[in-house]
Amino acid sequence: MKLLQEAIEQRGTIINDDILKVDSFLNHQIDCDLMEKIGAEFADYFKDRGITKIVTIESSGIAPAVFAGLKMKLPVIFLKKSEPSTMQDPVYTEAFSFTKNRKYTLCMERSCLNPDDVILFIDDFLANGQAFLSAENLVQQCHARIEGIGIVIEKSFQQGRKLIEEKGYDICSLARIQAMKEQTILWAE
Ligand code: 5GP
Repeated sequence: MKLLQEAIEQRGTIINDDILKVDSFLNHQIDCDLMEKIGAEFADYFKDRGITKIVTIESSGIAPAVFAGLKMKLPVIFLKKSEPSTMQDPVYTEAFSFTKNRKYTLCMERSCLNPDDVILFIDDFLANGQAFLSAENLVQQCHARIEGIGIVIEKSFQQGRKLIEEKGYDICSLARIQAMKEQTILWAE
């Protein structure tokens, strides 16, 4: 997605060879105009696939997921990183944070998903695929099915895409980074 690549090049900061900061439009301040277009791209790619719900992880997956949900007229469920006292029948899984380099627990109210739900998982970044694996675990605990994965920024030099493709899922990444060196980004496609 050309507009997203331009935003990354012009407004992103390469922290090191592995981590990109995009707080100016995705991870802190949200560019709603760009996010609307991102939502529309996901909606177009995953149309006519029988998707019934979108699942994401708080907090940075919420913006792209909600804009996709608006376009697809679907509800969005965000997996929570801490369990609120109001949760009645949660399902849990362990997750590993790429940016924080530590484990955490993800949870969701079991009744959010039914066995006949068909899920589109959306996230801000794909690195090694650990966030996806945790979401997959929770979806499977509810016996729902994942139909596809939508990623805003994929770092193709890490292991996530390979892991997801080996599991047979369809993945749509709107920007694919092959390498990051100093302040230069090499695109995968
Ligand atoms: P994974 O679980 O695929 O290894 O990492 C994906 C998660 O880690 C995303 O949900 C995202 O929050 C975070 N993440 C991974 N790489 C980056 C990065 O380069 N920049 C930022 N801001 N977050 C990242």
